[in-house]
This record gives sequence, C-alpha cells and structure tokens, in this order.
Amino acid sequence: MAFVSGDGDRSFFVGDLESVMVWNLLLVSTPVGALGSGLGGGVELTLQNIAQELRRRGHLLTILAPDGSALPGLAIASVPGKLQITAQSQGRETGVTMPDDSVLANLWEQTYQRQRDYDVIINFAYDWLPFYLTPFFHRPIAHLVSMGSLTLAMDQVIERTLNKFPGTIGVHSRAQADTFDFGDRCRCLGNGLELAQYQFWAEPESVLGWVGRIAPEKGLEDAIAAAQTAGMPLKIWGAMAEPDYWQRMLDSYPKATFCYEGFLPTAELQQGLGRCQGLLMTPKWVEAFGNVAIEALACGVPVIAYRRGGPMEIVTDGQTGWLVEPDDVEGLVRAIAQLQQIDRRACRQRAEAEYSMQAMGDRIEAWLRDILAQVGDRASAI
Ligand code: UDP
Repeated sequence: MAFVSGDGDRSFFVGDLESVMVWNLLLVSTPVGALGSGLGGGVELTLQNIAQELRRRGHLLTILAPDGSALPGLAIASVPGKLQITAQSQGRETGVTMPDDSVLANLWEQTYQRQRDYDVIINFAYDWLPFYLTPFFHRPIAHLVSMGSLTLAMDQVIERTLNKFPGTIGVHSRAQADTFDFGDRCRCLGNGLELAQYQFWAEPESVLGWVGRIAPEKGLEDAIAAAQTAGMPLKIWGAMAEPDYWQRMLDSYPKATFCYEGFLPTAELQQGLGRCQGLLMTPKWVEAFGNVAIEALACGVPVIAYRRGGPMEIVTDGQTGWLVEPDDVEGLVRAIAQLQQIDRRACRQRAEAEYSMQAMGDRIEAWLRDILAQVGDRASAI
C-alpha cells in the first residue's frame, strides 16, 4: 500500500487499490430536471442505482441535484437555480447556452467548493460546463456520458477532457460510443437494476407497452402505428416532456387504441410493464442505452427494438425479443406477430446475467479504481 499526497491538504492511498474499501464520492446530477421528475430520462434511475450500489459496497457519498429532487432511500443536497434546456432538442451547430441563475452553474460552483472532501466526483450531466471545468479541479472527475454525439461543442469538450484525462469518459453502450470520433477510447459501462424490484410475469395480457419520455426523438408515432396495424392496444408510460408532440399523436391517430398511463414510480411501472406481451422501442435517435429495455427484460417482457443504438446490444434477436430495421413500421408489425416465440424466462435470465446491480457495481468500481490509479501515477511522476 502506498500513500501519495493529494494536493497538499489531504492524503489518499493509491497503491494496492484492490484493497481500497471506502471512497468518498460526490455524485453531481443532471441539470435538466429534478431527480424523480422523469425529465432527466434514464439518468435518474442510473444515478439512483449507482448510488445505492456504491453505498451498499460501503462507499460514502453525497448527491448534489436540482431543488425538488427526491430518490427513495437516498439523501440529496439540493441546489437552486433554473433548469438547463435539454441537449437533444438542439441542432448540431448549437452553441452553449445557460439561463440566468443557472442550476448547472450553481451545482458546479458547489462541487468546486466541496471537492476537497471527496476522492472522486462523478458527473451525470451531458453539459459543456463540467467538462470544460475539469482541468481546473483538484479532484478527479469521472464523466458518465448519457447520450451520443449531438453537438459539435459537446464533442469537442468531451474529447478535450479525454485527451487530458484518459479513461475518465464512461458511456453505456458501444453504439453510443461509436457516435463520437473518439468512441474507442470511452469506457463502456452498460447499466444495471435492482432486480428484486422487478417481478417476473409469466402470463402476459394481450397488450403492448411503450415506455419513455414523450418526446420526438423517442419515435412514439411508430409504436402507435404498429400497434394499430397489429390490432393490439398500446399502453404508454413516461414523463410528458413535450405536450405538443403528444397532442400530435392524438390528432394523427384518432382511431388507434393507445392509452397514456402517466409517469409512475418504478414499483408501479413494473407492474404494468410486466403484464405486456412485448415492449416496443422505436427511437429516432441513437439511444445511448435504453434503461426501459432492461426493465422490460427483468419483468420477463420481450423487447421489439429498432436495430439502432443501445437496444440493439441489449436485445438478442429471436431470444429476448426482435430487432427490426430502423423506421420499418411493417417490420414492427411482423415482430409483434412473433412475440409468442420468445421465452419470457430467457428474458428475465438475461437481465439477471448482465444487468444486476452487482454486475454494474463491479464495472463502476473498476472504472473509478482505474481513474484513482491514474491520479496516483500522475502524482508519483511529479
Ligand atoms: N420511467 C419511470 N416511470 C415511468 C416511465 C419511465 O420511472 O412511468 C423511467 C424508466 O425507468 C427509465 C427512464 O424513465 O429509467 C427512461 O430512460 P431511458 O434510458 O429508457 O431513456 P432516456 O429518457 O434516457 O432517453
């Protein structure tokens, strides 16, 4: 075991890192919505699960998140300020914008002030500021990037961070990484769930499910059209991110049998989702991962997804669902007709093998350990 000086004010050991049992971690949330609101999308569940698993492993942690945030069983230090506009609704050339009294700026000001109490900071925001600020911090920052390439400004600042601090950029899937020129240097971390919270449903009802933020990049219209052609009702769960888009669905498909079930806590969501014969995932963008895919599998629900982004790495065609060529609504309809061929138990087993909290925690811990080891290497070289 070796001890090296951090930056003068405290010491932390970096040798024999296998034996490091307790880290002090600062988790900084997304600034696009309060945790629990659903506006942050999959990042909310991801942060919650990572926090719970790291705490279960004995690490100490603090979560900084916008005012109004709440997560079951986790204390949150809330930060005031105006929310950030979501990156996915902006064009490629869009510059960096922040409102007055920005919660993003406030979150990172507090992070800067508190940093000396922590070994590692984990950034969950897909925003320019935390990447830009990274070299000015005295503590290492692990960035968990939750979306693929969207704007030039983000691509540049992420790449710059990666060049200066190799190994600090985590992603959820290879497909997500591949949207960046520097994707091969990103650390692929997948994701994980508290599987005990998801009940296995052997006998589904004659209904299909769709889960996600109600927003154009999620391609809800394709799922509605496919369910209508297949003659099956479609239940929809998710945060109402863009009400105008939802109104367009209502106007465009007056005869379709789809029903909005609201945005529910996990315990209730899994009860409805588990009863579905299949989950439709029809994103128009490169979905970074797709938490809802592994949630469905955990309930024993096969997933029909476009062969695009994270879901195509999660779903094994013909075993845990069906992969369909992107934007092919007829293909979705054919896949719906074949749902009975999928063994629901195999879906649950896949979730248990790949997407448990344990599996995710091992990947995250190894990532943080490598980052701390690099800090140690840099310190020793001085
Ligand atoms: N979700 C939820 N309640 C609902 C519908 C969705 O908690 O009623 C959550 C779901 O568990 C998932 C997230 O919303 O974690 C959607 O994340 P996903 O990764 O699928 O997509 P994103 O919104 O990040 O693009």
